[in-house]
Amino acid sequence: MIRDLVKSDDKILHQRVKPCGANLDRHFLAKTLIENMHHYDGVGLSANQIGIDARAFAMMRDIETNDVIVCFNPRIIKRYEDYVWFEEGCLSFPDEIINVHRPDKIVVKYEDEDKKDHKIKLSGMAARIFLHEFDHLQGIVFTTHK
Ligand SMILES: [Zn+2]
Repeated sequence: MIRDLVKSDDKILHQRVKPCGANLDRHFLAKTLIENMHHYDGVGLSANQIGIDARAFAMMRDIETNDVIVCFNPRIIKRYEDYVWFEEGCLSFPDEIINVHRPDKIVVKYEDEDKKDHKIKLSGMAARIFLHEFDHLQGIVFTTHK
């Protein structure tokens, strides 16, 4: 189901999003996130961007192979010391491109739609997308990223 993107000043984009609880239909949410991410032609989409208060996002893990993952209750375990500047766009701020300073390599944990835990290392574009979407769940948007 295609949902509207919330407006950039909607408070759901500017507050910490709630953990995914036991009653959440994760399979439905995963499908919705992937469907909407592709519909809006994004490389990542967090649930609150489409008005859903749950700590989950979809992201392209590999743009070349179209490998998509959906992360529930994601966490950042480690940020490596090499930080890089890179221009980012955001579906919630379609007119803005902003240079953001982020670590180039991270170790993360997340649950999948079957509540299975994953721990992976991400680098380059995948690390950047994960960090951008993770910020969304913290209520941080790239225009206010420090
Ligand atoms: Zn964004």
